[in-house]
Amino acid sequence: MADKTILFLASDQQSLDILKKNIFEPAGYRVLFCDSRQKAEITVQDEKVDIIILEKRIKGLDSLEIAASLIKRYPAIPLILLAPQTEDPDIVLKALRIGATDCIISPFSQELLLDSIQNGLRRADVWKTWARAQTREHLKTLQERINEMETLAKMGQSVTSYLDLDQVLSAVVKSTVELTGAEEGTLLLLDDESGDLYMRASLNFRDEFVRTFRLPIKDTLAGQVIQTGKPFIFDKETPEKIKTNYMVLSLVYVPLLIKERVIGVLGVDNRTNNTPFKHYHVELMSAMANYAAIAIENARLYTHTQVERNKLETILTNVGDGVIVVNSEGKLVLINPSAIAYLGLNGKEYINKPVHQIIQNEELVRALQGESLISKQRIEISTDTGQTFLTTITPIPEVGRTATFQDITHLKDLDRLKSDFVQTVSHDLRSPLTAILGYVELIERAGNINKRQKEYIRRVYVSLNNISNLINNLLDLGRIEAGFDTQKELVPIRVIIKHASDGLKHLIEEKKQTLLLDIPEDLPLVYGNPVRLRQMFNNLLENAYKYTLSGGHIVVSATTEAEQILIQITDNGIGIPTADQPYVFDKLYRARNATSEVSGSGLGLSIVRSIIENHGGRYWFDSTIDQGTTFTVVLPVAGG
Ligand code: ADP
Repeated sequence: MADKTILFLASDQQSLDILKKNIFEPAGYRVLFCDSRQKAEITVQDEKVDIIILEKRIKGLDSLEIAASLIKRYPAIPLILLAPQTEDPDIVLKALRIGATDCIISPFSQELLLDSIQNGLRRADVWKTWARAQTREHLKTLQERINEMETLAKMGQSVTSYLDLDQVLSAVVKSTVELTGAEEGTLLLLDDESGDLYMRASLNFRDEFVRTFRLPIKDTLAGQVIQTGKPFIFDKETPEKIKTNYMVLSLVYVPLLIKERVIGVLGVDNRTNNTPFKHYHVELMSAMANYAAIAIENARLYTHTQVERNKLETILTNVGDGVIVVNSEGKLVLINPSAIAYLGLNGKEYINKPVHQIIQNEELVRALQGESLISKQRIEISTDTGQTFLTTITPIPEVGRTATFQDITHLKDLDRLKSDFVQTVSHDLRSPLTAILGYVELIERAGNINKRQKEYIRRVYVSLNNISNLINNLLDLGRIEAGFDTQKELVPIRVIIKHASDGLKHLIEEKKQTLLLDIPEDLPLVYGNPVRLRQMFNNLLENAYKYTLSGGHIVVSATTEAEQILIQITDNGIGIPTADQPYVFDKLYRARNATSEVSGSGLGLSIVRSIIENHGGRYWFDSTIDQGTTFTVVLPVAGG
């Protein structure tokens, strides 16, 4: 027992010196001295102490208490108490109770002390060997658990990283067999059609057996697991032909659950090995079964998504309308063959490229890259091939924007034919109409007519005037739409509005309405056709006058903003019903509250719209029934 270290705790070194010289050193022990508990604790921490000897007489302190606290802190170090004879007769009992290895009453023989020390050291050795063995055992179990956890974690990764279901399921079975130490593993799935179980993956089964394996649900263990949704563990001593279709000594089946529905079982078994499976194997296998279930569900969802995607792709490929999808960064996400053909694209790679690199039409590019995510936008696109497309741009939150192209070339052609027809008819009607008007005027001059005849002639005259206005409007509209008004010059809008309002002055006064012009003198010039611009203001002012009751107010105001002139014509008239608002700019449309007493053909606003568009302007209106209407016209400043 040489080279062992004794920690000697006493009040003074005197008693130690004798022991050291006579007993400890001859026996080969190294001795460290401490005179307080604190010092003893520091020494134990710093040095390798094998045994503690504590002398009962420590000045002013209860040495039993010190011994108890040291034993508590360092239970692996044996402690011997040395007590004087005169002490408490129960001291030995008390010392042993607190866990001291021995208690020696002085005077004692040299042999007794050495014996006690050796005893203590031996016990400590036995204890240490036992503790080491225990630790090794625990470490082994811990390592096994860590390995299991690692396998489970790896399985988790495989499930998400492999898309090949066969690979994942084979890995699940293989890992399950490894983790449980089984001889064989199977993954049985329910065949929805036959209702039987078939082997979807396996380990250590013959191929032929796997291929032909079929297990009914009724009266089989796997079937029982399917029906109850609960795991099953079988480990009887005697081999028994249980309904597994093969002989096993022990077996575990756990259910494969998808949203509480059992779709199959994961099983392991032993045919020759007698080691039974443990209950924690069931837990491990349940975790594995979960992975398999997730992989199966993922694969199902993936196939489903793939099928849906293929369907969608087929639809998009075959649909006559062009479709483009652009993401929020303005990059192309989807373009179907029709869109490629319509836009005359001849590149190869479109996906993920910025839309401006692919599409030439600036207006379309701007609309697809636009900021606003709220409103739909419609634009007409004419291509070099003479086709016209109505393109609807729809913002889709969290995706970007889609553009759909509808070929409206035939509608445009029809519209043109219709306009041509209307133009020809209007033109041809104008000459006879002028002749009729002339003759009606002449009737009165040709001789006496009575009062009634006079009234009839007046009515004919009014009606003829209405027809003549309608025809003139139709001809105007045709000309404006055809873009014949190419004569443009710098136009002072203020003067134009003034002339238009002067033309209506007497009518407005007759109806006791007020007209206020609030137009700054330095309003910039507009580059446009003065006749048409006057016609536009005329129509808007005439409407304000017509659809406002006697005594009403009309205000025309103008401001300049960012190279644009904004003109507003406001009245406090009858307003436009909400249901009619989207259509009032359509040809021949009159709102339901425009009574027949108010003359009109429904062409005025169509002309206004065409003139504004011809001048690169914008327009809109706000109207509230019985409160009034404000029409806003925005025209670009000349040279702006
Ligand atoms: P109309 O010849 O009937 O006035 P317009 O094309 O000028 O035709 O206007 C179309 C319709 O819009 C009108 O019939 C009328 O119902 C409505 N409307 C236009 N301006 C106003 C207005 N200032 N107040 C109320 N309704 C209006």
